[in-house]
Amino acid sequence: MHGTPQEVLERVFGYGAFRGDQEAIIGHVAGGGDALVVMPTGGGKSLCYQIPALLRDGVAVVISPLIALMQDQVDALLQAGVRAAYLNSTLDFDAVRRVEADARAGALDLLYVAPERLTSERTLALLDGVRIALFAIDEAHCVSQWGHDFRPEYLQLSVLHERYPAAPRVALTATADAPTRREIAERLGLDAARVFVSGFDRPNIRYAIVPKHNARQQFLRFLDAEHRGHAGIVYCLSRRRVEETADWLRARGYHALPYHAGMSTDDRKRHQDTFVREDGVIIVATIAFGMGIDKPDVRFVAHLDLPKSIESYYQETGRAGRDGTPADAWMTYGLSDVVTLRQMVEGSGADEQRKRIEVRKLDALLGLCELTTCRRRTLLAYFGEERAEPCGNCDNCITPPDTWDATEAARKALSCVYRTGQRFGAGYVTDVLRGRDSERIRGFGHHRLSTFGIGADIDPNTWRSVFRQLVARGLMRVDVEGFGSLKLTETSRAVLRGECALHLRRDAPAGRKPRRERPARAVRTALGPEHQTLFDALRDRRRELARAQGVPPYVIFHDATLEAMAEQRPRTLEAFATLPGVGEKKLERYGTTFIEAIEAHT
Ligand code: ADP
Ligand code: ZN
Repeated sequence: MHGTPQEVLERVFGYGAFRGDQEAIIGHVAGGGDALVVMPTGGGKSLCYQIPALLRDGVAVVISPLIALMQDQVDALLQAGVRAAYLNSTLDFDAVRRVEADARAGALDLLYVAPERLTSERTLALLDGVRIALFAIDEAHCVSQWGHDFRPEYLQLSVLHERYPAAPRVALTATADAPTRREIAERLGLDAARVFVSGFDRPNIRYAIVPKHNARQQFLRFLDAEHRGHAGIVYCLSRRRVEETADWLRARGYHALPYHAGMSTDDRKRHQDTFVREDGVIIVATIAFGMGIDKPDVRFVAHLDLPKSIESYYQETGRAGRDGTPADAWMTYGLSDVVTLRQMVEGSGADEQRKRIEVRKLDALLGLCELTTCRRRTLLAYFGEERAEPCGNCDNCITPPDTWDATEAARKALSCVYRTGQRFGAGYVTDVLRGRDSERIRGFGHHRLSTFGIGADIDPNTWRSVFRQLVARGLMRVDVEGFGSLKLTETSRAVLRGECALHLRRDAPAGRKPRRERPARAVRTALGPEHQTLFDALRDRRRELARAQGVPPYVIFHDATLEAMAEQRPRTLEAFATLPGVGEKKLERYGTTFIEAIEAHT
């Protein structure tokens, strides 16, 4: 199969235009050059080797460490009419022989291979006998010995260059940092490769972080208002919270499934498969979930507990909206999260230096939570990407938060912590500030303190927000060994003495109803209500087709394609062909049946 990159993009994949660096990368690799591609999740890395594979003679060999992904990619390619297969441990001997025979006969455009298999004598012997179009090394950061995903087999991939010097190689990763990039280039012998680094922004993801009042109720309001029937991932810190939250969501009519390390491998696999293969499933998971899943239509990622760092937050939220259509990253956090995470760091048994790093990472995350300006700008700056304009697609841009002069309140709070001996948590100190008549306070004699009752004019929720923000800013700290008691810090003093003014974020009132009408999305607006029933009918049709073939629905058509279908309602094959994501093969296979569904509806 030959032609120009643009022709292949349209004919095979049904897309009208390349994204970002895709065109340059494809041109470079198709012309025989080596490349190192750094692109965020959902940026469109696959096309960077799939199109060159179709433009060049021979079979393209793709090294991928994740079996589930391999199968997904091959399913999707077969749907588009591309001759693809994989070799991994799930195949029996006969199946392996068939794939090998196809490769030898020149009947494959792409062959996906697990890394441990690639370097086996059998596979190398196979490759010796075929014409190789190129090598693509996916998840290339797995070669980094310092990363979380290190795979020793990746170190052996240098053999490719020695054994097949004529075949161009393209290594791909979403891992941003420069040291990892250098390590990849060095270990894979790609020093001379052209490096393509894309920006890390995910413009279709809307970030929102809300102060925690009643996490589940807040989350439910968000779900009911914005994501009924959508696929999503909910992260919780503990197994127990995962189980409880999944049960709770199910009781409210959502198709929610738990996923955590305490479950059997079979159950985990079953839940993951359901999530991938069915529409509208919510997975409630500990952080163990997500790696190796590239379901494109995850419409939201919610954190009911804080992640450990901005890196984790970005990686986890990055699982939303790979298909490029609007998605939400929603998080709720409170002082209790800060206490729990600090406790985890302290009790981790790591050495002091490691702990210091983790504390700093946690602080950076808290800074993000308390931010009153554009979240995206801060996130990108954390990864070294400067951006001049606010994004217009995060909570702070959409509804700029109020701030208030909390200098006096902060002084009262710090002073009360000091007077009560730095031995109590935020709840108790608030009671003293508000002058509550309680036996406990009397017992300690704190009703006689000068700070007793000096904060009666401020409601308990606001005090909670003050304490949270003081801790987040390091103006107070939580003693994790002392059961969450509050302590002063070096920086408290300046505030206590009134030497610096302090402006804090004003939290939105707890019971505030979510906006019914959402402002226009930065990328595109969601489907109008008048198209929703047709969209649902098209989704049903897609599900039947997917079930019959044993593939996930999104390899047939993405939601974006169904949305365009519901809006444009094509009645001829010619019109159907212009939908995004409809190439030659899919037009031939599915055009008629979806047009029928559209006609039945109208
Ligand atoms: P990555 O591997 O970088 O996470 P993928 O290669 O899976 O991303 O691509 C993400 C999604 O974007 C896929 O669903 C893909 O079909 C879609 N996509 C990629 N390139 C384009 C393009 N040029 N136009 C439209 N959609 C695209
Ligand atoms: Zn913003």
